Amino acid sequence: MKTSIPDAFKNTVTEEEFKFCSRCEKPLFKQNEDDEEVVYMIEKCVIPGDIIYELALCLTCVEKAQNAMSEESKENMQQFMQNKVVETLENDGPINGLIDMIDPNEFKLSEIEGNYKRFNLMGYFRGGEFAEKFPVVCISEDIMAQLQEQLSKKTKEDLDDFMDFMNDIPPEFSELFDKRKPVFI
Ligand SMILES: [Zn+2]
Repeated sequence: MKTSIPDAFKNTVTEEEFKFCSRCEKPLFKQNEDDEEVVYMIEKCVIPGDIIYELALCLTCVEKAQNAMSEESKENMQQFMQNKVVETLENDGPINGLIDMIDPNEFKLSEIEGNYKRFNLMGYFRGGEFAEKFPVVCISEDIMAQLQEQLSKKTKEDLDDFMDFMNDIPPEFSELFDKRKPVFI
């Protein structure tokens, strides 16, 4: 399969593209010529040189995750992100190396990795290409923690339920994972 998906967004275990949604197991690539191409998100939690977890979610599952959040949590999270984006723009670049929004055509993991100790990396794809209009987003663990503070207790519990499919997290990481859930923005 020939795609323009960078290695940073491939499945670390198979070293190939993610082929199925991690949650509903829907194929992410066309099965028949007439099928519509699925939009999906890939998220990884990265320590330079290592991956804590990684997942691919079809847009339907991303929307389900977003719907699992209360209106209030969603608003708080969006407001928080908006403020961070404004700060980033005003600073003409990544704020304290904490959030990067990168044009997919210019994305190179090696260029950003050194700015972070641990971060979440997100990208949206359609078939074997980056999906249009979605930047690649990197968020440091500090900002991730602050972002999660925007969520209500109820929303956190609902997201835990949603993430039940991820049961292959190594035990040494489970405590870590508990504090650093994927984000759906
Ligand atoms: Zn799915």
